[in-house]
Amino acid sequence: MLSEKLHDALNAQINAEMWSAYLYLSMSMNAEAKGEKGVANWFFIQFREEQDHARILMNYLLSRDAEVKLAAIDAVPTEWASSLEMFRDTLAHEKKVTAMINNLAAIAAEDKDFASSNMLVWFVNEQVEEEENARGMIAACEAVEGNKFGQYMLDKELAARVYNVPSPLAAKA
Ligand code: MG
Repeated sequence: MLSEKLHDALNAQINAEMWSAYLYLSMSMNAEAKGEKGVANWFFIQFREEQDHARILMNYLLSRDAEVKLAAIDAVPTEWASSLEMFRDTLAHEKKVTAMINNLAAIAAEDKDFASSNMLVWFVNEQVEEEENARGMIAACEAVEGNKFGQYMLDKELAARVYNVPSPLAAKA
């Protein structure tokens, strides 16, 4: 049985993943409105992935016979000055998510809840990737700052990003 502390923290994480999804959806809409279709595509895929993260955690709670409690999702920002600002906000946000995941892993270790620790390994690794991706996008945006052709090519590249089902969900499909 999950400890009450871990159960509550996992439900809070589901809410945080849904907030992340909503944040990236907002970025996607803002980019699309500005005609940056590639950036919009990149963030729309991010929006789908964040919902998957929530789904993985919901599946886990259900598999442990623990209640999924869906709380209200807070409002998100709706406007950014540039795609560079979006990716900077993305990195800052993902660092906060990493701290939350680390906290979950610490509670699971404290509880000697090995099943939860195992499940969380995927999220620990995922956060390394999320931060690395955001840093890469910041570097790419900085490289083309003030360069219209570069921005055009970067947007084209981001338009090619495709959605992949995360492995914990793919295994269930
Ligand atoms: Mg996430």
